[in-house]
Amino acid sequence: MQINKVLEQSAQAFTTYKKTSLAERASFLRNMAASLGEIKEELIPTACEESHLPEGRITGELGRTTGQINLFADYIEEGSWLEATIDHGNPDRTPVPKPDLRRYLVPIGPVVVFGASNFPLAFSTAGGDTVSALAAGCPVVYKGHPSHPKTSLLVYGAIKKALEKSGLPTAVFQHVEGGIKEGQDLVKHPLTKAVGFTGSFKGGKALFDLANSREEPIPVYAEMGSTNPIFVTEKPLGDLDKLAALYAQSLTMGVGQFCTNPGVIFIPEKFAQRFAQTAGEKLEAIEGQTMLNAGIQRVYSESLSEMEKLSTVTWSKKAEQSDKGYPALALTDTTSWLADKSLQEEVFGPFGIVVSYNSQEELMEVAQSLQGQLTITLWADQSELVGQDDLISTLQEKCGRLLFGGVPTGVEVGYAMQHGGPYPSTTDSRTTSVGVYAIKRFVRPFALQNCPDELLPEALKEANPLGIPRTMDGKLVS
Ligand code: NAP
Repeated sequence: MQINKVLEQSAQAFTTYKKTSLAERASFLRNMAASLGEIKEELIPTACEESHLPEGRITGELGRTTGQINLFADYIEEGSWLEATIDHGNPDRTPVPKPDLRRYLVPIGPVVVFGASNFPLAFSTAGGDTVSALAAGCPVVYKGHPSHPKTSLLVYGAIKKALEKSGLPTAVFQHVEGGIKEGQDLVKHPLTKAVGFTGSFKGGKALFDLANSREEPIPVYAEMGSTNPIFVTEKPLGDLDKLAALYAQSLTMGVGQFCTNPGVIFIPEKFAQRFAQTAGEKLEAIEGQTMLNAGIQRVYSESLSEMEKLSTVTWSKKAEQSDKGYPALALTDTTSWLADKSLQEEVFGPFGIVVSYNSQEELMEVAQSLQGQLTITLWADQSELVGQDDLISTLQEKCGRLLFGGVPTGVEVGYAMQHGGPYPSTTDSRTTSVGVYAIKRFVRPFALQNCPDELLPEALKEANPLGIPRTMDGKLVS
């Protein structure tokens, strides 16, 4: 289908869709979740076959996908996200009358979404980017991912059914198949108003640059991954075996194909060798598995081969030479890691590097040198963090989510989740791509001045017919 026609239809659908009430939009989203549930018997095996991910994982991912759609439905009905704000006017104010000002958030227009290979459901056709845009009131043009075309079309069918059931134009959601050219044409089209993307740094940055070179630049919300460092202090290493098992498990979950995979772990020097050896033994017991696609497998194998040439790295577990993604674990020290950028880059797959450090100063140096990350994790006893305000505040500058214990894999979908950190983990650290706050990417503030009550949108009418929380003359009223 011609890209121009797709965007024209999308812009046309926007004229209707943006006028839907919150209840109508929420009802459509609930219909969408139900439609996906109805095709579960066909969808799960198809997604398993195309992604090589096991049935349990895909079943869980479908639950996550429908769960997040229903969460967005509840969220938009509650209404606080509209940030309705009213400053009453005062015609008698001197020397000049005070105007009546009312502001809320309005949808931005057609959004182009690029799905991810590693989440064929939750970050793809009906995934978080799509749903947050639809919840905001924006139509979506979805560029199908070549790793799971049949899955994508099945989901598209379910969304179309939900649109029909809800009496909405089918062009509220359109599906485009194709490659790089179609993707770039979608981003360049003047009717496109924003882009959501999950994938490689190379792809996300290319689309970001393209969007900024347009006559009318548009925002690109690209989530491009990170190495998700774990910082370990001495006290927790009293339980080294347990921590090594936890690390090995997180590193290999989903064949390491998560943007929150903990690719680097900093361990005090006196424990580093033993930690690497113990984690390496745990990894020995884990079989290699087929990765998402041949390209991802090739890049994984090539990255490890390159690293194996380095004299600054030793291996506690090497990956087998195979067409499967086998886990691998390397060991180096802070000086080598700081000196060699190639050791700091994300290797997409079940690979981790243990970095030994020998002082608090070294740890601080590492923290200061970090690139922007989605997550950073601290494995530290609370007593060891007292007086470490500088370290914690440095880490805050470097990531979107700071964890105290646990592992970064397993990103909860909720109200407070932040999945997005400073560049290069994303192209815009002010937003998230997981959780309801993701809606803010696809809205813009709009104010009305001295507008008669009858002409005001429901969210801003004096009587508050929607019953939503609002800020009135500087005070939150709910
Ligand atoms: P990708 O190569 O970045 O592709 C994602 C989507 O963006 C695809 O639909 C692709 O289109 C499109 N695309 C990429 N570059 C483009 C460009 N220059 N112009 C227009 N469209 C472009 O990601 P992937 O296929 O999911 O996986 C490849 C690598 O991405 C992995 O090895 C990994 O490093 C990384 N990755 C990161 C995450 C994450 O969570 N951040 C998730 C998955 C993968 P076509 O496929 O049609 O070319």
